[in-house]
Amino acid sequence: MKTNKLYFWLAIIFLTVLPIGIDHFNAVYHLNAPLVWMIYILPCILVMIAYPSWKATITSGIIFSFIEYTDVITGHRWVNIIGIILIISGSLLYWIIIITMAYFRLRYEELLKDVKQTSYIDPLTGIYNRRYFDSHLQSAVTSNKNQSLILNILDLDYFKRINDTYGHLCGDLALQHICSLIKSNMRETDILSRIGGEEFAVIFSNTSIDEAQQVCERIREAVEKTEFRYKNHPINLTISLGLSQYGGEDFYEFIDKSDKALLTAKQRGRNQLVITY
Ligand code: GH3
Ligand code: MG
Ligand code: MG
Repeated sequence: MKTNKLYFWLAIIFLTVLPIGIDHFNAVYHLNAPLVWMIYILPCILVMIAYPSWKATITSGIIFSFIEYTDVITGHRWVNIIGIILIISGSLLYWIIIITMAYFRLRYEELLKDVKQTSYIDPLTGIYNRRYFDSHLQSAVTSNKNQSLILNILDLDYFKRINDTYGHLCGDLALQHICSLIKSNMRETDILSRIGGEEFAVIFSNTSIDEAQQVCERIREAVEKTEFRYKNHPINLTISLGLSQYGGEDFYEFIDKSDKALLTAKQRGRNQLVITY
């Protein structure tokens, strides 16, 4: 990264010195060269690439305009009307190109951000999806070795029955209902993702296992007690939860630990929380 920055600044210096040299040549031979402005676009483009913002673009545009105008004045290239017209048109063209390029560069940045955002969001529930969960947990596991990292995996009980009895739309609404209950019972700093059809995960960081256990119990109770209705039919929903604390294992083993706890919760009769240490 540092080497890249060094090459970047060397390129900027070279592309700044080059037009100054050409300008000097113009001054010596009493030439007007509006195209020198166009060479000054190159360092501006480099700045746009490294620092994509209007502030950086306009600042670099002004700096290179200033250098060019200084050269124009000291080289006495403005002495006749043709010279002045060429200088003004060169400068105008320079700004039109810079502003157009900056617009597309910033638009590209915005679109990239949007695409990244949507590729991490589950369309049905609006929460993070499996892709985000994997990458977040992976980096939490590699960077948070000494901090308390806790993973809860939860799964709706007998969800297939709801789909089979009331239809898929009812199932979808139930998933959204559960999701909002989980969100309203957890901290904003914890990460909730939908990692499978009717399976969710909460990643707790900097939390003790006791605190995480309390949150999970609160979520389980909220799901059990909050009424969910579909076309005036009251539907009982429950969830099973598996909780485990990170203990230095790898990413897959960590997920497996919570998964095993979830499986035990299912085997013990569902609607409960199991913790593996
Ligand atoms: P268990 O208590 O053992 O978890 O039983 P279950 O019925 O919840 O589990 P099973 O794995 O048998 O069924 C999961 C069901 O979840 C099957 C599938 O149709 C449903 N499902 C998965 N994704 C969606 C979804 O996006 N919308 C709806 N409506 N249903 C879904
Ligand atoms: Mg299920
Ligand atoms: Mg499941």
